[in-house]
Amino acid sequence: MSAKKIARRKPVLARSEKSLNGTRPTVPASERRLDFGERWSFAPALEAKDYIQLQSRYQLFIGGKFVAPRSHVYFDSINPATEEKLAEIASADARDVDRAVKSARRAYEKIWRPMPGRERGKYLYRIARLIQEKARELAVLETMDGGKTIKESRDVDLPLVSAHFFYYAGWADKLQYAFPGRTAEPLGVAGQIIPWNFPLLMAAWKLAPALASGNTCILKPAETTSITALHLAELFQQAELPEGVVNIITGAGATGKALVEHRDVDKIAFTGSTQVGKLLIKAVAGTRKKLTLELGGKAANIIFEDAPIDQAVEGIIAGIYFNQGHVCCAGSRLLVQEGVFPAVIRKLRDRIATLRVGDPLDKNTDIGAINSRGQLDKIHELVDSGLQQGAQLVQSPARLPKKGYWYPPSFFTGVTASHRIAQEEIFGPVLSVMTFRTPEEAIERANNTPYGLSAGVWTDKGSKIFKIVGELRAGIVWANTYNKFDPTSPFGGYKESGFGREGGRHGLLPYVALS
Ligand code: NAD
Repeated sequence: MSAKKIARRKPVLARSEKSLNGTRPTVPASERRLDFGERWSFAPALEAKDYIQLQSRYQLFIGGKFVAPRSHVYFDSINPATEEKLAEIASADARDVDRAVKSARRAYEKIWRPMPGRERGKYLYRIARLIQEKARELAVLETMDGGKTIKESRDVDLPLVSAHFFYYAGWADKLQYAFPGRTAEPLGVAGQIIPWNFPLLMAAWKLAPALASGNTCILKPAETTSITALHLAELFQQAELPEGVVNIITGAGATGKALVEHRDVDKIAFTGSTQVGKLLIKAVAGTRKKLTLELGGKAANIIFEDAPIDQAVEGIIAGIYFNQGHVCCAGSRLLVQEGVFPAVIRKLRDRIATLRVGDPLDKNTDIGAINSRGQLDKIHELVDSGLQQGAQLVQSPARLPKKGYWYPPSFFTGVTASHRIAQEEIFGPVLSVMTFRTPEEAIERANNTPYGLSAGVWTDKGSKIFKIVGELRAGIVWANTYNKFDPTSPFGGYKESGFGREGGRHGLLPYVALS
């Protein structure tokens, strides 16, 4: 059966005539129900937030203290699920960046670099334990500020955040074993710029290895999700981390740019879009600064005919729909071997109809809010391009809340490799499905993007996994699972997905000079 016929089969999911004309797809009211006979739902199970103490204004964290920005400028942080203002966040300008760099330099020269590794390790262990103690509160804040589900922030992000600090605490006094026969020296002051999709986890990925190896840090969170990094700063105070070892400066791209261009920064570690990553390559060219980039992705999930189809469909759901598709390694392209295409599409369509979209603080919610209005507009723009280029959209009939930024779980069939939806990062809960006949064709299609971050392979045959994995140009490949992370495992990309690795012993390398 062709992809077109499947997409047009009606009952559970459909697209309206409007979507055929290239305007935003909507599902007719008559079809907005699940296909379980009677309409049913879970009772609300909201995570408590009455104990959360949000400040009305968050300052910069420099030299171990919260200080007002010299710029006197603040911007709003919005809860994307409600569009309510949560707090005002300080916007650091070049003078604030300079203050933070000076503070980090002082701490590096006088305290952190001379400190024995075993002492640095104690601070990291203390921070890891404090994160565990505060995990529930930090998870709620993460969900309120970023829109991701509490299931994700509580059960995935926060455990991994503390695990990263624990893991790198263990390396702090063992660097000679990490690089046998070599001497590892810290680089100095590290400027670290992170995105909004995993705010605390990205902070942990950056800070823990840098601190363990003796560097001091200036962290710049993304402008839509700064709040949890500033609550983390409170834990640094409680851990009595020496002043200036970690500084947190908030602001948008201009703040990040000022950090990258500061003359006294030794190392830039960036996670974000490929577009900004390319600007950073130019900015550090000809300077002494070391650079690592973790950029975008357009991962292929490859399902072979011999795969356990139900498990594979669950893996696809976890790989693209949970966390609203706001994952750089999301399996946003699905390559299905022709023989199982009808079965996979049928199961996928039925499964996305059961995903619950809504209040991310509800423990039953599968898909939370899109992080910002700007990101929602980008998703709409790319979905429109898919429709205009002739792909067929299948969309969940989920009811979307009236306020906030939402997008229903969706997938495209009839996608060709040249479509924008097959090449560009959508960074939303939208999957592009294509078919293949032979393993060679699957490899060729999977590698046919400018990115090379991650991929997934689903098959019953171990030999096939090894053959395919060896030929995929992707930094991370999952086999018969997807989106599993561990602090001991390196993560990073090929091609336009960046260079350098985070996690594991490899994650120390970008922060040391070896002799
Ligand atoms: P972005 O590039 O717009 O912003 C990332 C960070 O860079 C933010 O803190 C932002 O303020 C800052 N920034 C923006 N312009 C800058 C400039 N000129 N100089 C210095 N800093 C600047 O990306 P985003 O939209 O926040 O995040 C989404 C992107 O991040 C996606 O492309 C995603 O794939 C990527 N990402 C990659 C990984 C990975 O590990 N490879 C992980 C998470 C997200």
